Amino acid sequence: MAASLQLNFKPLKPRLLHAKPASKTAPKFSSIRCSAATPSKSYTLTLLPGDGIGPEVISVAKNALQLVGSLEGIEFKFKEMPMGGAALDLTGVPLPEETLSAAKESDAVLLGAIGGYKWDNNEKHLKPETGLLQLRAGLQVFANLRPATVLPQLVDASTLKKEVAEGVDLMVVRELTGGIYFGKPRGFGKNENGEETGFNTEVYAANEIDRIARVAFETARKRRGKLCSVDKANVLERRVDEECDGGGGRRRRRGKRTMVVAEKKRTENNANMLTFSVIEWLVLQTQCGEGDVCIHFMLFLIFPIGQSTTNVNLLIECAALLCDNGQASMLWRKIVTNIASEFPDVELSHMYVDNAAMQLVRNPKQFDTIVTNNIFGDILSDEASMITGSIGMLPSASLGASGPGLFEPIHGSAPDIAGQDKANPLATVLSAAMLLKYGLGEEKAAQRIEAAVLDALDRGYRTGDIYSTGLKLVGCKEMGEEVLKSIDSKVAAAV
Ligand code: NAD
Repeated sequence: MAASLQLNFKPLKPRLLHAKPASKTAPKFSSIRCSAATPSKSYTLTLLPGDGIGPEVISVAKNALQLVGSLEGIEFKFKEMPMGGAALDLTGVPLPEETLSAAKESDAVLLGAIGGYKWDNNEKHLKPETGLLQLRAGLQVFANLRPATVLPQLVDASTLKKEVAEGVDLMVVRELTGGIYFGKPRGFGKNENGEETGFNTEVYAANEIDRIARVAFETARKRRGKLCSVDKANVLERRVDEECDGGGGRRRRRGKRTMVVAEKKRTENNANMLTFSVIEWLVLQTQCGEGDVCIHFMLFLIFPIGQSTTNVNLLIECAALLCDNGQASMLWRKIVTNIASEFPDVELSHMYVDNAAMQLVRNPKQFDTIVTNNIFGDILSDEASMITGSIGMLPSASLGASGPGLFEPIHGSAPDIAGQDKANPLATVLSAAMLLKYGLGEEKAAQRIEAAVLDALDRGYRTGDIYSTGLKLVGCKEMGEEVLKSIDSKVAAAV
């Protein structure tokens, strides 16, 4: 029996449902498929296939949408637009105005993935990733919902022990349009020694925290009623020029930035030496303006140096300092705590990000809904995704207060497997299910897709990223076909 994906709750708010009068021309569907009567609803969906495996996975998701639409009496009008590297090649910019306009005018947007080696050395404003940030900003989607659910069929694909991974079902609600990725001032400068510096600013306005907190409380309320707010609010409680715990680094305030200076002479053992080397590297990266990259790097270093909790904490604390996260985190905690009184049915807890990163691999089942800022959410949701076994399985939804939502798999364009029919399309298919549920309020159609994905997995079909011995290895297209068959067979079974 297929397990539930546990994504099944109603849209967060009554979003614009955009139901339109029935089209005079019913869409044509394959004759082998079941089809319902004349569509009673019509939606315009903007498809942004993007780059790499994007077009391959979008094609599968489009077929699934068309089929469930035919079964549910929903007409989908698809508008395919260029985005990312594809748009750069075609128009010279990563997000053409026409693409943004089409997205804004539609009922929901489904994105494949963007990026690739070809554009890696472009100037920042001409990178595919810039187009994605512009799209999120243009659609004013500030709440990023990323479920991480360990499916029983894929529990062995998890990097964690079976008993730790089994039954994990959590949702990360990440703030998407504020924080250090957008904060000002940012840039390059020089310090008093004439050295080059780079700096970014973590900044949140009260209303930005308020609105994401409300989305998170609503989300938790419709799940298991537990919300964990993740921040780094302890940092501010210390003077910026005092020494880090663990005897490791010294922080000095320089203008609006906090610097960490590693002091190798204070090292007492090899683990500390390694920690300080890493901190030095982090500082170097920050001075090069790569602060967010260094935080990502930091998480992957937790395990090699993780024998000493002190070192891990020190490392994360220092990295958090580099982001100047303290004040923004204090405000974050204050506002989230205040809002909690409006949601007495939701149990609120707070956790520092360093602890959350560890708890996610130690005991992920303790989490139901996590709410956090942009950069912490970026990192923690990637970490949570690995618990589920493959990045190729994970969907996401980005929602605003009104207007179309943006739905996309969390993976990138996977240039290493692009064009080889090796991509796992299920993250995009499940993103289409989220689109139906959160974007259009079409709960039943969404459930059809989710059930079909589980059914295809139950029948043993696997793409390379989730394959294990004894199962049926298929490519992207064939996996898509199997999902379609499952959608059809579920209908037959229900009749
Ligand atoms: P990636 O997610 O593209 O790939 C990481 C690894 O996972 C690769 O080995 C890839 O083959 C594999 N993988 C990813 N999706 C898969 C799928 N559906 N099925 C099977 N395997 C899959 O991350 P990356 O390699 O760091 O980035 C590649 C490009 O994608 C970069 O240009 C990056 O900027 C971009 N990117 C885009 C997005 C987005 O569009 N939202 C997100 C992340 C990265």
